[in-house]
Amino acid sequence: MNMQALAPRLYAPLLAAQLAVLAIEPPQVLSLSYAVVLATLGFTLLLSLRRVRLSLPHNRPLWSLLLAALLSQAAAFVLLFVDSLVNPQGTLVALDPTLYFCLSSLLLTLAATYDPVRPAYRWMGWVDTALAIFIAVMFYGLVRALVAGAEAQPDNARAIMWLFDAMALFVAVFATLRLLGARRRDERRFFVVLTAFAWIELFAPAAHNRFVLASESYLPELLLNLPFVLTGLLLSRRRGDWLRGYRPSTRVRHLAGSISPFVLSLALCLLAFGYLHRAPALAAGAVVAGIASYALRAALMLGRHLSSEDELKRLHHGLRRAALRDDLTQLLNRRGFYRALDREWQRARQARTPLAVAMLDIDHFKAFNDTYGHLAGDQCLASVAQALAGEAISMAGVTLARAGGEEFVVLMSGYTPHAAGAALERLRARVEALRVLHVRGVRGFVTVSAGIASSELARYEHAEAMLSAADAALYAAKHAGRNQVVWAKVPGTEAMS
Ligand code: GH3
Ligand code: MG
Ligand code: MG
Repeated sequence: MNMQALAPRLYAPLLAAQLAVLAIEPPQVLSLSYAVVLATLGFTLLLSLRRVRLSLPHNRPLWSLLLAALLSQAAAFVLLFVDSLVNPQGTLVALDPTLYFCLSSLLLTLAATYDPVRPAYRWMGWVDTALAIFIAVMFYGLVRALVAGAEAQPDNARAIMWLFDAMALFVAVFATLRLLGARRRDERRFFVVLTAFAWIELFAPAAHNRFVLASESYLPELLLNLPFVLTGLLLSRRRGDWLRGYRPSTRVRHLAGSISPFVLSLALCLLAFGYLHRAPALAAGAVVAGIASYALRAALMLGRHLSSEDELKRLHHGLRRAALRDDLTQLLNRRGFYRALDREWQRARQARTPLAVAMLDIDHFKAFNDTYGHLAGDQCLASVAQALAGEAISMAGVTLARAGGEEFVVLMSGYTPHAAGAALERLRARVEALRVLHVRGVRGFVTVSAGIASSELARYEHAEAMLSAADAALYAAKHAGRNQVVWAKVPGTEAMS
């Protein structure tokens, strides 16, 4: 039978043995009880060690920190055990187990601050580690000071209890925040264990300490064993995907991620209160470290945030541009053209200014491809586009686009029919002047035909209607022999050329 299956069966007899010891109260009752706790803890340690071995490499530090925390608790219980052998009443804590309880809290806090996957923020991990160590040292110093003064001031025992409770609460809150923000399955699994352990570590010893003070019975000792039993049971669960349905929302994740540094800084500032009279300089140092580390983080994060916002804007701009541009000719593509058409149509309507649109098409382009090849066809398309763009650049209010294939569209805002006709004629002539050889073309060169329509000459219901009129005129230009500009038919008149 392996350890996993053994665990639930072993904890019950251990608890029963401890209960019997505590109820019967034989001589050395405390020592026996501590021995049972150590046996339980030893078993939980084995399960925890097994988890370290099974964990994913990047999560191994997390599980190792939990193991180390359990080990330091074991050290504390060994000291309590030895102490109880020397002093069966268990009143004199000569061997200072508090150090190991503090160490355990530190290790658990480090586990709660450790972020396995986020290398960009690694320096923050170091800041958090330094803060956690600062907190643990200040906490331990305060505990020692209270223990030292306990003889003179009996109230100190209560103060120590509250201090330990506060530390346990701090660890539990921290672990819970991390659990709420954990997205990956293996990470969630760890934080479930850590959070459960931290909360039991808050309630069980807190209840124990208060019962011990209030009653004569040894039964409260049972509470000391609970965290190890429950953690051991969690660790021995074969199916580890707890809270399977839980997926933190982005808001919760961000909140959990951004509030944990705040918890660290706040803990440090609160601890400083304990040193106000004892060591004012240390108290001031702790407050400064708490605030400065938080402010530094905020400032650096803001810087990072702003630069990533800039980068996003740049990318967005690039994507937008790429979405509206044609790769081959670098002109606006069909989508870009329709946007411009809508915009200019609205503007022309509102401002009552003329708008003209023309469709241009390379003549006998299929024959060009067939004769010179597709690659040469592409080059020809690019040079025609470049020539058109070069000519159009001097024409204010002209938008040029590739409508698809070997067709182009020209949008002329504010152009009277006369000006639009002249502009189109210039564009056509410019392509002809390129003198790109095309043996099967009009007069042996690459040429374009164009159909043109103007809002001044006919009342079009919408932009597309004007565009279709230009398209129909383009067909007329083709029929009329190509390499020419033809006006769209105006109802009641003949096509003008
Ligand atoms: P017309 O004078 O009547 O316009 O004749 P045409 O041959 O130009 O017209 P048609 O519509 O029959 O053929 C257009 C050709 O354009 C067909 C296709 O191979 C070519 N074509 C379309 N897009 C591209 C392109 O991106 N690159 C190349 N190389 N050829 C293209
Ligand atoms: Mg065509
Ligand atoms: Mg063509």
